[in-house]
Amino acid sequence: MGSLQRFLFGCLELVAPQTCVACDEPLERPSYDHPASDLEGNVSERMPNVFCDACQPLIEPCSRNPGAFEYGGPLADAIKRMKYSFRPDLARPLGRLMIPRALRYAGEVDSVVPVPLHPRKRRQRGFNQSALLARPIAKALAIPLQPSRVQRIRDTLPQSLASETNRATNLRGAFRARANEKQPRVLLIDDVQTTGHTLRATEEALRRAGVAHVHALTLAMTL
Ligand SMILES: [Zn+2]
Repeated sequence: MGSLQRFLFGCLELVAPQTCVACDEPLERPSYDHPASDLEGNVSERMPNVFCDACQPLIEPCSRNPGAFEYGGPLADAIKRMKYSFRPDLARPLGRLMIPRALRYAGEVDSVVPVPLHPRKRRQRGFNQSALLARPIAKALAIPLQPSRVQRIRDTLPQSLASETNRATNLRGAFRARANEKQPRVLLIDDVQTTGHTLRATEEALRRAGVAHVHALTLAMTL
């Protein structure tokens, strides 16, 4: 980051101090800068500072794909605030948390595609959280973000309300994807994976559209 940028970010910090994404506590060491690489371009696995000192130790990296972190504690609070308390501003710092994991797919994917919401749901919420999470990831990987590559064509029951046996059928035919020969390899982004049915249905739609390589990454995963 250049000195002018550092100065501008300093001013920004005075006007609007960066706060913890989970509890709004002001951060001691906010990180506005790009967390993913240093000045020499070396990729860093360092997690950006978006949680306060009380919340940070409770964040558990997830050892299983596609989750970047285990769902629960302050991370779950941050996700719920983003989605249900209209806090789209939390999506950028939360998306930046996913960058170190996303960089593992550098060179293996050509586009970043968020799991879509049905237009009605998107209007209700005011934004698609996965599309906002995907923005800093696409920027870090320096590949296009394609928010309308997959569309949700059928409004479905929320997966949490569908019974265990109906969850897979609930999503049948819910997604439609577009082929794109220039970007044949996709990194699919979602906020939370619980049963995996949504990601699988989205992946299937991409494969039906001829996309052979799909990697998936979610901010959190319930274990
Ligand atoms: Zn906190």
